[in-house]
Amino acid sequence: MSEGPLQSLEQWDDFVKSRYNPRKTEEEFRDHSETTPAVVREFYRLNHMHQTRDFVLAKKRQYGAKQKAVMGIWEALEFLNTLVDESDPDTDLTQIEHCLQTAEAIRRDGHPRWFVLTGLIHDLGKVLCLWGEPQWAVVGDTFPVGCAYSDKVVFPEFFALNPDSKAGRYQTRLGVYEEGCGLDKVDLSWGHDEYLYHVAKDHLPEEGLYMIRYHSFYAAHKEGAYEHLMSEHDREMFRWVRAFSPYDLYSKGTDRPDARGLRPFYEELIAEYFPAKVAW
Ligand code: FE
Ligand code: FE
Repeated sequence: MSEGPLQSLEQWDDFVKSRYNPRKTEEEFRDHSETTPAVVREFYRLNHMHQTRDFVLAKKRQYGAKQKAVMGIWEALEFLNTLVDESDPDTDLTQIEHCLQTAEAIRRDGHPRWFVLTGLIHDLGKVLCLWGEPQWAVVGDTFPVGCAYSDKVVFPEFFALNPDSKAGRYQTRLGVYEEGCGLDKVDLSWGHDEYLYHVAKDHLPEEGLYMIRYHSFYAAHKEGAYEHLMSEHDREMFRWVRAFSPYDLYSKGTDRPDARGLRPFYEELIAEYFPAKVAW
């Protein structure tokens, strides 16, 4: 897998899950420093240091052209499954199994079909890793670039290493944005969320697109930061981002979903919303 420091991308997911463990006390919640694995800290150091506004705009141009591949959704799931990391293949679930667990948990709760499909595909943007993007440009909590960093973003101390922290125009409360301008006008740090949003945006209902685009924006949907950039419409739509988050964080069990048996159901669901081939 491309350029560490994480042994697997799930190490970041697991860290978020432990941060928002509902059984955690307030004190444990604040204290990431002692309990966070060194590789996860190092991952955030690189992420906060390198995600500059220029970097984000360049990646949006590069991948927004969607000229990397033409493939169907199930094909993309299988492609993501080729991501080999250093985690234990006997005990750890494959990428497809993780996707299916999220979708199946949503399905069990009787949610609409587009919601189930959103669960299935929400992490497909992680194929960025297979195209050589470093981990810090694929996963990690997302945050706006081009305005002051919130200390509600995890490990805010690492932002001092970002060249943008010395650019005055990027460090005011609003930076390059306007009060209440709406998140669509705000550039978030680059990763699997924003990328998949661009791939899926003509195909899913808006609620599903919000879930995909903002599921790693924990500072906003869990901590209430960056309210001043949000529109009334964002606030309404964030209900859906919050409805989705527990499935993403807590649906990962140890039982292996039966990918073969489930495939016909999901192929049919995919075909309801997506063409047979999609530009990536
Ligand atoms: Fe994700
Ligand atoms: Fe996820």
